[in-house]
Amino acid sequence: MELLLIKYASEIFLKGLNRGRFEKKLKENIKNVLKNEEYSFYTDQNRWFIQAEDVSEIKEKVKKVFGVYEVCTVVQTERDIEKIKELALLVMKKQPEGTSFKVATKRADKKFPMNSMELSGLVGAHILKNTTGYHVEIKKPDYVVDIEIRDNAYVYVEKERGIGGMPYGINGSTMLMLSGGIDSPVAGFLMAKRGIEVHGVYYHSHPYTSERAKDKVKELASILSQYTGKIHLHVVPFTEIQMEIMDKCPENELTIIMRRFMMKCACALADKLGIQSVTTGESIGQVASQTMEALVVSDDAGDRPVFRPLVAMDKGDIMDISHKIGTYETSILPYEDCCTIFVPKHPVTKPKLKYIKLHEEALDSDALVAKAIEETEEFIL
Ligand code: ATP
Ligand code: MG
Repeated sequence: MELLLIKYASEIFLKGLNRGRFEKKLKENIKNVLKNEEYSFYTDQNRWFIQAEDVSEIKEKVKKVFGVYEVCTVVQTERDIEKIKELALLVMKKQPEGTSFKVATKRADKKFPMNSMELSGLVGAHILKNTTGYHVEIKKPDYVVDIEIRDNAYVYVEKERGIGGMPYGINGSTMLMLSGGIDSPVAGFLMAKRGIEVHGVYYHSHPYTSERAKDKVKELASILSQYTGKIHLHVVPFTEIQMEIMDKCPENELTIIMRRFMMKCACALADKLGIQSVTTGESIGQVASQTMEALVVSDDAGDRPVFRPLVAMDKGDIMDISHKIGTYETSILPYEDCCTIFVPKHPVTKPKLKYIKLHEEALDSDALVAKAIEETEEFIL
């Protein structure tokens, strides 16, 4: 049998009265990703352990659960000093020779007959005496041999960082405007990582954008769902709205008015489904439509908080995250999106709300939005 120790983010630890709620959610989410695995879960004085025949697969899955800070492969023994010494020696011997180490002990149970410093010293000396390839280094050791004294004793060297963040679903919900680009999947990932439940909305301009563009967005939602569990993606038919805007509004305002309609639809859908906020992948100054003035005019069209987790990030940094989370390769597939088809030659970059609203009056906004929402398709990925 193998054993994993799961440590969660210190932020959860600091949550005081809320801690119970956070732990419950995190445990639930871990159990969810492990639903096809054989394992047993137990706690030993506030630490979480998973026991299984082979933990390698389980470890990979648990590392991706938001809120998990670190996953350690541990060995367990009785609270017996001789046994702890032997185990620590065994564990250290698996590390390459010519490296440095130190021993760090945590006693959750202060009744243990030796204090942490003494036990660490004793175990360190035991390792040195029985090996030749290692030396002690307190400040920056290559390896730390951790010992934890709880109901049982645990020894480990191998630690892998988890994804961090907060348990998914603990911090409310958001409607993510998910396009086929690089940015919005990253924005969704960042919100999910902070524990916010993500729903997707995609504006589809059939026949100007193809089924393949839609499939690409579904694929992106499905990649995100590897981190979040099932995602609901709402596909809003957007052609009629765009045609009406082209027909009745000034050409240089097409983009900004279209963005306002995206906002209106996202909010209408969020309202219908009880979702609290909206998220986009916009980043300040990235393109002509992402000026401060344009963001302000877009926000005005909504009725709830709009989050733009990428607003202050450089494109290169956004791309790095997109590589890391696995959406990049799909995002760069060359399918058209609705914004690239209806682009004005000289879009306003500093729109004035007063004029935009005035020109929008040529449209029956409420009816257009209501119809689009009525005809929205839902996919579960
Ligand atoms: P992305 O890489 O996310 O597509 P972008 O840099 O291409 O962003 P825009 O096309 O201006 O920028 O879109 C800005 C934001 O508006 C996107 O990040 C996304 O949140 C939203 N958005 C744009 N087009 C759509 C669409 N067809 N469906 C849903 N949301 C969209
Ligand atoms: Mg785009």
